[in-house]
Parts: sequence; structure tokens; C-alpha cells
Amino acid sequence: MRKIFFSFLIIIVFLIIYYFSQQPWIHFIQDEIHLSLYEEVKPYDYIEEVSHVNIKEIKINNKVNNKKLGKYQIEYHYKNRKFTLNVFIDDKLPPQFETRNIKILKNTTVDPVSLVKDIRDDSKTVVYFKENYIFNETKTYRVIVVVEDEYANKSEKSAYVLVEEKDTEVPTIQGIEKMTILVGDQINLKEGVIVRDDHDKNPILKIDDSKLNVTKEGEYEVYYHVEDHNGNKEVYVRQIEVLSQYANREAVKDGIKTCYLTFDDGPSENTKKILDILDRYHIKATFFVTGTSPEHFKYIKEAHQKGHVIGLHTFSHDYEKIYSSLSAYIQDLNQIKEVVYQQTGTDTKYIRFPGGSSNLVSKKYNIGIMKRLTHKVIDLGYQYYDWTSINGDGENIKTVQGLKKKAIEEIEGKEDIMFLMHDSKSCDNTVKVLPSILDYLIKNGYQFETIHQNSPTFHHTVQN
Ligand code: ZN
Repeated sequence: MRKIFFSFLIIIVFLIIYYFSQQPWIHFIQDEIHLSLYEEVKPYDYIEEVSHVNIKEIKINNKVNNKKLGKYQIEYHYKNRKFTLNVFIDDKLPPQFETRNIKILKNTTVDPVSLVKDIRDDSKTVVYFKENYIFNETKTYRVIVVVEDEYANKSEKSAYVLVEEKDTEVPTIQGIEKMTILVGDQINLKEGVIVRDDHDKNPILKIDDSKLNVTKEGEYEVYYHVEDHNGNKEVYVRQIEVLSQYANREAVKDGIKTCYLTFDDGPSENTKKILDILDRYHIKATFFVTGTSPEHFKYIKEAHQKGHVIGLHTFSHDYEKIYSSLSAYIQDLNQIKEVVYQQTGTDTKYIRFPGGSSNLVSKKYNIGIMKRLTHKVIDLGYQYYDWTSINGDGENIKTVQGLKKKAIEEIEGKEDIMFLMHDSKSCDNTVKVLPSILDYLIKNGYQFETIHQNSPTFHHTVQN
């Protein structure tokens, strides 16, 4: 009886062992896989051996995002069994960084962070000194700074700490060159101004503009008071010249080539084509519009909506009419102002005189009218803009090649240009030549701006 029982038991145990030995099983090369960022994930490469598994029938669910640090899983499904492998995307690269040298006073403590800049790493980093430094002598210390990331990768670099007995240097200032403005201009006296100090990261700046009167012509001084946290102070003086509101606002010679593209005499069917070209180039322009083609007024709205600037060029563009008297001009101007308001919902303060402020045609209708008009429009709150360069489409140039040649002659050698072209019905060649003019300007380093409140005005000399 006992014997039979034991034999039976052995058979049972064998059957159980056999059962399990026939089950599918996947062995991985490691318990968990560690990869670097962006390293290719290769689920089949992590399988060391299989038993009772047909590798081709394994279905893999790879949840690893190798673009982001973290813990992920790969699931290997075979029939109704699931095997899971943990995959870690680790940061295996040491941090990269630059150092900067600093000045401190004797016996101050230094935060090592103040010696490093531009840290590049995929995980969080800490910054510390390689050794303990005590800055108790007036000399230059060479120190080693360590940057370590969350995965214990580290880099070290040296930096210099100059220890001084006393801070005696005053903060320096930059960007307070002489400024010329017109009466009534809005100015920002802080714009472009940078104060630096050898010991103080945030020196105090106080601007005293109590002597400046922007409503009156004159030469003024503005005082920039700077002080560091050790009490070193200095007063820097800036000259501000306030010119008559009728004066020309000069372009600033700052080495930056700027082009103000302007189109006169539209809108017309050509306006649409010009807007499309400007879209392709992502360039904004200024349109001085007239009222001679009401069926195209919608392009004023379209130009405005696309971020172009609208200016006024009179409604009739009829020299005899507009230059007969101040009131005739103003009346005509109000008419186009109203059209622009209807199309854009805004009032514009930018004007271009037909023929420019230097035109002599007006002499035929009213002697001295341009002298009076140029002041009158400014008294009314407008500003007028002439130009530096043309493509000749208002002259007798009949070919696309001719316009291109003229444009280049007119642009060459100028830092800032106000470029006049026409988008009227007759200017098909301007549409044709425009891309090549834009290519030329871009190739020659010009950046594009629309007319705004503080734009240079490029006034011509009034001759009538
Ligand atoms: Zn015109």
C-alpha cells in the first residue's frame, strides 16, 4: 500500500515538473536595461534565450520614450503570457558648462553658482567647489568648480576669484549716447541702457530728468545716478537735443541697415498682387493710399489686417485741387482719412504729400503752400514722410530691367532707406520687379520696418 502511494506521488511530482518545463519562458540579458538618451531601443536584442517560444510570434509593446529620461517598460506578449522588462533612459553624458571669473571682497563667501554659466545637461545639476576655499587673502585664487547631474556624471573646470581689500570701482554705464528727438516725442530714457559693476550684479540706477522739457526746443541734460552696494557712486550725463516739431527726424547711424518699403497711389488691382508677394517674404510695408479707386478699398482693409501700415496720400491726388489752398488740402485729406477709418477702424497720423514735400508743381497753384502745409499738418498732429530711394516707376522707366537698375542705384551706399514705389493700376512692372528688389535688399543685409511713431522722417527740403 505504502509503495503504491509513493510511486503515485513521484508520478504526480514528475507531471508537475513536466508541466512547468513545457511552459513558454523568456530570459533577458539583464534584469533591467539602461540606455542613453536617444539610443535606439532594440527589444529583440534584450532576449538572451527562450524556451517553448517561437520568437516570431512574440508581440512587443514598447513603451520606451528614448527622448526623455525615465523608467519605462517593454512588454513581450506570447500567447496568453506577458513578460515585462524595465528599461531606464539614463543621462550618461557629463554636464557641459563655462566658467566666469569674479571679484569679491576679503572674507566673503562665494556661491559656486556665480562662477558658472551656460550649463548644458539633460538632467538637473548641482554646482559645488571641489575643495573648501577660504578667501581671506588679497590675491587671485584658482578654484575648481564641479557640476554634477542627477545621474552622478560630473565635469570640473577652473575659474579665478580675485579677492580685493576694498571695492572702490564705480559702476559703469552704456547706452547713454546723445539723443535727438522732436518736440512732443515720447521717449524711454532706460531703453538700451546697461549698468555694470565689478562686485554688484544689480547696481542701482536712478534717472534724474528734471531738467528735460520735451515740449520745448533746446539742449538738455539728463543725469544717470548709479551706485553699487558698497556705496561707490557716479553720475553720468546724457545730452538730449529737442528739435522743433517741424524738424526732420534723422535716421540713427547705428550700423543697422533698415528699409522702409512704401507704396503710393493705391489701392488698385496691383495692391493685391503686392500683398501676396510681401506675404511670401514675410515683410511688412507702408501704403500711402488715395481714394481714386473705391472698388479696391477692400485692399486697405486687407493690408491693415495683415499688419501693414496705412498712411494718407490725399483722396483725389489732384495737384491743382489739393495745392490750391491749405483748406482744400485739409478737406481732401479728411476725405481719405475717413475712407481709411471705415476700412480699418483706426485713424492714421502718417502722411505723404503727392510729389513729396519738395514738389515744385504746387508753385503753379499757390506760391509758398508747401512751407505752410508742412507745418500745418504737424500742427494737426500728423507727420509726413518723404523718401530716399525710388525704383523709378513714377518716372518714365518702361522695363522691368530698368526699374531694377534704378532701384539698385538708389539703394547702394545708404544705411537707412525710405523706398518709394507705386501700387497703382499702371504699375504692373513694379509687381514684376518687386521680388528681385526684395532679394537684393535681403542679400545686402537690410531689415524691414514699417513707419511708426519714432521712424526717421526723411524730409526733403521744401522748395515752395
Ligand atoms: Zn502719388
